[in-house]
Amino acid sequence: MKRFEDDSELPQPKGPFSDSEALTLLLAYRKDPSNVPCPRCGLEQVEVLGFIEPDVDPGGFARATDPEGEYAVALYCHQCERAVGILPAVESEGR
Ligand SMILES: [Zn+2]
Repeated sequence: MKRFEDDSELPQPKGPFSDSEALTLLLAYRKDPSNVPCPRCGLEQVEVLGFIEPDVDPGGFARATDPEGEYAVALYCHQCERAVGILPAVESEGR
């Protein structure tokens, strides 16, 4: 069993997902937000860490926000220990 040293902190990702993996995660999230498989590790590894503002500042600091309007979803895979922010709500699509 794996435990985090300090569970008051978010897990520290080991690295990013590739663009194509991020797209796969985005499409899976749009289809079913409660069931997003990791492109590398499969089902039941990816956790939604929270909702963040879509504009992350250059230091990589993301502010938490509400899942309304424009927001990004922070996803984290416990297996490969990578994190990504996806933008599920794209208003301009399909017009
Ligand atoms: Zn993974």
